[in-house]
Amino acid sequence: MNRVGQGIDIHRLVEGRPLILCGVNIPFEKGLLGHSDADVATHALMDALLGAAALGDIGELFPDAEDAYRGADSLVLLEEVIKRVALEGYSPVNVDVTIVAQRPKLRPYIDLMRQNIADVLGLPVQAVSVKATTTEGMGFEGEELGMSAQAICLIKKKKCE
Ligand code: MG
Repeated sequence: MNRVGQGIDIHRLVEGRPLILCGVNIPFEKGLLGHSDADVATHALMDALLGAAALGDIGELFPDAEDAYRGADSLVLLEEVIKRVALEGYSPVNVDVTIVAQRPKLRPYIDLMRQNIADVLGLPVQAVSVKATTTEGMGFEGEELGMSAQAICLIKKKKCE
């Protein structure tokens, strides 16, 4: 049986923080604000995976009141999510992530982002899509007040041995 899931996330863009997207540290004058590393793209993807398996959301799984997740590497959290999904008997088939950001240009980092996600999910890189778009200067992303991300994934029931 196949199931789909979707996730979205939004973080504020502020000075004095690193910009981390799909585990890639991207040189930029601002970074995303959050309790963890605020990797908005990985967060959207985690919610998509949890959604596909109807396992709640990352706010439930990794409460931001907990010190354990302060500054957490979101790829490590993604590893935990994929374990939970596997416990339900599912494995990912493909994922597609879209990052909405006015600046910086993300194209040079896309392949590294895809590889990071593929490595954690145990998927070939061809099954991992990461895209980026601007909003042509409109809205909070366009005004560089924040970044958002959306993700969708397909998971399939693993075959019984
Ligand atoms: Mg988040």
